[in-house]
Amino acid sequence: MDNLWLNALPAADRKRIEPHLNERPFAQGQMLYDAGEALGEVWFPMTGVVSLMTVLADDHMVETAAIGREGLVGVTCGPLNARASSRAIAQIEGTAACCPADVFSDALRSSEAMRDALSRFTESLFAQVQQTAACNAQHRLDERMARWLLTLHDRSDGDRIKLTQSDIAGMLGVRRATVSEIGSEIEGQKLIRRGRGWVEVLDRPGLEAAACGCYRMISSVMKDLGVPRPNTAN
Ligand SMILES: [Zn+2]
Repeated sequence: MDNLWLNALPAADRKRIEPHLNERPFAQGQMLYDAGEALGEVWFPMTGVVSLMTVLADDHMVETAAIGREGLVGVTCGPLNARASSRAIAQIEGTAACCPADVFSDALRSSEAMRDALSRFTESLFAQVQQTAACNAQHRLDERMARWLLTLHDRSDGDRIKLTQSDIAGMLGVRRATVSEIGSEIEGQKLIRRGRGWVEVLDRPGLEAAACGCYRMISSVMKDLGVPRPNTAN
């Protein structure tokens, strides 16, 4: 399995879950589940990125967290929360190993190591959600876009990320024209290159310097909590 969270579990715990996993591809833009839905499965992304979106009453939505191979999707507030508190949308296509929620809950009940790993991951997710909320309210759009591209780059294989302007606009909760303008600015600094439906990271250290401090803060919380680093491939 290429999910880093699963890989970090003791062998006995992995053996308990692995026979029940089934691999499932997800397409870009696919909704894995909606807010309020019963969570029947836990998704362990092996490739690709899933965004958790908060949906407002007018159906406007903003991304609050991104999860890739370092984590799991479908257990956002602990194993006892049976309904999703946010909408999960695949941001970058990929494949996940899916586990029935009851199998996952049973495994959790019998393993302290798993409960510990889950609580460290959910704590890092909570930190990401909080930091993203503050970032959305306070930081400049160019810094936010750089942060968000780094988050996706960490969870992608290679430097070219399949993304359209409207994907970026949707995630950042701004108009497409604004994304185009800010994208040109970042491209002008030779940090990224854009094509039809993709963005390529050219200068990773430069992009890190252009991002707000939120990227580093989230990365450092994940490190402190012992959550696997998602960017082992880059
Ligand atoms: Zn920020």
